[in-house]
Amino acid sequence: MRKGFEQRLEQANRELKRVATLDPLTGVGNRMMCDEWLADQPASTELNVIMLDIDHFKRINDRFGHERGDQVLAAVAQCLKTKIGGNDLIVRWGGEEFLLILPGVSPLRAHAIAESLRHAVEQLPLLPSEEPITLSLGVSTGSTESVNATIGLADAALYQAKRTGRNQSVALTQSSEPDQNMK
Ligand code: GH3
Ligand code: MG
Ligand code: MG
Repeated sequence: MRKGFEQRLEQANRELKRVATLDPLTGVGNRMMCDEWLADQPASTELNVIMLDIDHFKRINDRFGHERGDQVLAAVAQCLKTKIGGNDLIVRWGGEEFLLILPGVSPLRAHAIAESLRHAVEQLPLLPSEEPITLSLGVSTGSTESVNATIGLADAALYQAKRTGRNQSVALTQSSEPDQNMK
């Protein structure tokens, strides 16, 4: 009897923890999931980080309403989720910004994945005006030990993608010089 109660309590706690790590609007992870996912990675795992942000999202809200904006966010998140691998992480990092972590692929492949995500989202029919949703993406490579610096670098790459025209991916390496800028 007592064992049954403890099992149910354990199950309820697991479910509570799972829900607490999800973003309710988009169904992808939140920052808490990111911390837990990183803690589960073996030491010295090589990681590629993609930081991406929807371009001119404020205009979407302004022109089509906040509710449509919410739908766009959820649809973009689901599209990204279907395009990444089972070992990869996707989290909503902020309003219209998502962080992806891809272990076990080369930096070149990570950049190609970033571009394929941009193309996939561009093809989603989400706006009444039929205009495409475009993304800016920053890509960087590091390891579990340097994950904060790697995220910072992906953020700098994203900033550069925004500054130099949006709708593109920029990859930065630790030397801090842009090594690729593909469109
Ligand atoms: P940029 O290309 O420079 O990224 O421009 P932007 O308009 O996408 O960026 P900005 O930071 O100016 O605006 C982001 C907007 O995203 C403003 C905010 O109201 C909206 N936003 C943030 N979270 C949500 C949300 O959960 N739902 C909706 N509908 N809008 C959101
Ligand atoms: Mg934006
Ligand atoms: Mg933003």
